[in-house]
Amino acid sequence: QTIPTIQIKDAPQYVGQTVKIGAWLRNKRGSGKMAFLQLRDGTAFFQAVVAKADVSEKLFETAKELKQESSMYVTGVINQDKRSKFGYEMKVSDIQVIGESHDYPITPKEHGTEFLFDERHLYLRHIKPFATLKIRNTLIAATYEFFNKEGFIKLDAPLLTGSAPEGTTELFETDYFGQDAYLSQTGQLYAESGAMAFSKVFTFGPAFRAEKSKTRRHLTEFWMIEPEMAFYDQDASLELQERYVAFLIEKVLEQNEQELDLLGRDKELLKSYTKLPFPRVSYDDAIKLLQDNGFDVEWGVDFGSPEETFLANHFSKPVFIVNFPKAIKAFYMKRHPEREDVVVSADLLAPEGYGEIIGGSERDTDYDYLKQRIEEEGQSLEDYNWYLDLRKFGSVPHSGFGLGLERMVTFVTGEEHIREAIPFPRMMHRLRP
Ligand code: ATP
Ligand code: MG
Ligand code: MG
Ligand code: MG
Repeated sequence: QTIPTIQIKDAPQYVGQTVKIGAWLRNKRGSGKMAFLQLRDGTAFFQAVVAKADVSEKLFETAKELKQESSMYVTGVINQDKRSKFGYEMKVSDIQVIGESHDYPITPKEHGTEFLFDERHLYLRHIKPFATLKIRNTLIAATYEFFNKEGFIKLDAPLLTGSAPEGTTELFETDYFGQDAYLSQTGQLYAESGAMAFSKVFTFGPAFRAEKSKTRRHLTEFWMIEPEMAFYDQDASLELQERYVAFLIEKVLEQNEQELDLLGRDKELLKSYTKLPFPRVSYDDAIKLLQDNGFDVEWGVDFGSPEETFLANHFSKPVFIVNFPKAIKAFYMKRHPEREDVVVSADLLAPEGYGEIIGGSERDTDYDYLKQRIEEEGQSLEDYNWYLDLRKFGSVPHSGFGLGLERMVTFVTGEEHIREAIPFPRMMHRLRP
């Protein structure tokens, strides 16, 4: 009779049976008579128990000599184990060492964050990155599921571009055969072209911004999902946005219970954020609310982290702040029909200090106005002629938004710092590994 080779996540289906599992050693405890091997295989974690009385002298010695992160096949019987947080363990009958490991740098003791990110290529194997990045993966898969269901197509935007629609201060510039090129800050303008061709599209790719400030929320390379919808006004867009965010949270609650528990994230609290609708608060009212609560802010400023945190916490759920001052928003946002000084835009702010998750707007459709705004921004019309074409040939009202994947990951997982939300973070002082 052959012994089945399984993965740890499937252990519950094999209680009482002998199985073989390929795994790595995370940690080890033991006495003269027992060795307790904490194992992981990339699908889950569990404990393998080697009892001196049950195995050969040689096997017991092998088990006791195993070093952190050595790899092996372990064979034995699966038992339920109510005391362990993983629920199952193996009573070992055989071990085949595959790859040895010596002086693994990340020991079970406490390490500083900088050290862990210097060792990120190894740190990925540990529980916190494992849980966080599994949840990231759920958010990615759920994004495709949601937009497919809603009739969107994914449109891939270029990453090498000739324009800087989000302003020129945070640009990565590179030489493109003698021309200036930039790493893309956003797929937005391309998504707009796509919406005129396919009605509803989303881009999903990396965005690059040379963020010089050191915050917990800014990476220089992050991933953004940018849906764009023809014939959608702001209300239709906000309704889509809140359903998308609620869908993402629900998927994680459904598929990542173990990971949320490993990270200590409050699932009831997360569940409460899926109750729609999210409040809509005008920028004007937000300023008043902040002033009434002792914030020193004037109409016209952009919100920083303390203001964003206060506003969303005030409503105990994600909140849309709508109609921001024109002067602090991108040139393509639609002018308010009754007011010169604001644009039809919305930021979605997350509670608990996770900040701006989404920025979006209706798009202005007026050729001459957009041309003038591009010039005011000091940008060259030559770079935008193709974009202005969209306003010449059958322009329609349309809206879109950008959701920052890593912001969403920190919000859902409860991680404090955005560097935890991406496999290999890029920040001003981090280019390796
Ligand atoms: P912020 O005000 O936080 O700097 P932004 O208004 O500059 O963000 P947008 O241009 O509106 O950002 O981009 C859309 C979304 O992309 C944001 O709502 C946010 O979720 C995400 N995002 C923006 N910049 C970054 C960054 N540097 N790192 C990670 N995510 C980002
Ligand atoms: Mg910014
Ligand atoms: Mg912002
Ligand atoms: Mg924004």
